[in-house]
Amino acid sequence: MKFKIITILVLLIAGLSLFVSGCTDSGTSSDNETAGQGAEVSGTDEPMTVAVSILPLAEFVEKVGGDKVKTIVIIPSGADPHTYESSPKEVQAISEASMLVTVGVGMPFEEVWIDRFGTINSDTLIVNCSKGIELRELAKHDEKLETHTEEENDGDHEGLDPHIWTSPANAKMMVEDIYEGLVQLDPENEAYYAQNRDSYLEELDALDARIRAKLAGREERNFMVYHPSWGYFAAEYGLTMIPVEIEGKEPSAQDLAKLVDIAKEKKVKVIFVQTQFSTRSADVLAEEIGGEVVAVDPLAKDYIANMDNVSDVFARNIV
Ligand SMILES: [Zn+2]
Repeated sequence: MKFKIITILVLLIAGLSLFVSGCTDSGTSSDNETAGQGAEVSGTDEPMTVAVSILPLAEFVEKVGGDKVKTIVIIPSGADPHTYESSPKEVQAISEASMLVTVGVGMPFEEVWIDRFGTINSDTLIVNCSKGIELRELAKHDEKLETHTEEENDGDHEGLDPHIWTSPANAKMMVEDIYEGLVQLDPENEAYYAQNRDSYLEELDALDARIRAKLAGREERNFMVYHPSWGYFAAEYGLTMIPVEIEGKEPSAQDLAKLVDIAKEKKVKVIFVQTQFSTRSADVLAEEIGGEVVAVDPLAKDYIANMDNVSDVFARNIV
């Protein structure tokens, strides 16, 4: 791993603050056991910087990496990852990270970064989290509508669904990929990473069992969502997701009318939305079917708590 000016600065600041805290509250701090050994020791233990594109990936990295990593999250919360464009400054910061964890599918900004890395000779390790995951096509509600009209033209569905993390089974594979990346960069701490990974995988298994229990025994397993973020979740738990948005755009009035019919036929009572996207058509749709709009966030950081919350919301609103 090469030392860049920023790393050296961070080390200097860390060393200085160690020195200062040693002066001011000597003996009171319990998390400072190695303080007596000086800045050199803390220098070699400097956490490695791991850049990630979206918040749930930061959670996975921190769960496996513990205090040996610090994360940089590129997409600010509230931004739409599909259309996000990084500034050159961001690309520079990412290229100085030890590791970059990507969703690896259907996120155009990630491809821009990786192309840039090639041209600036970055030695950042790129971990593609979709490796090994069976990718789905991005659900389009017009696939549903097409059944009323003309046949699908096969081979014309190039868009793969990037929302891989919404299934805990996929999350487990992503955690595994992150573990391998960390061990590759820091083999000395393999046992530490393995222990963290194993306990997080157990938590994910427990989460999966809770979700299955909550969603068991439902008859009508259809739900509508403005932006189709929950395809892997739906596939994992036997639900059918009907997206409102058409290729990133609000549906036309005509499409909306068809969606109202579908919603009534499928006994859909709730239109799920997420804060990153406009919800005007979701509001119209909910009004037409006498239902309501409910927000669920696929991009929250605390993955397990969020998935528990989301599955509660689904369980309440899927009959
Ligand atoms: Zn999305």
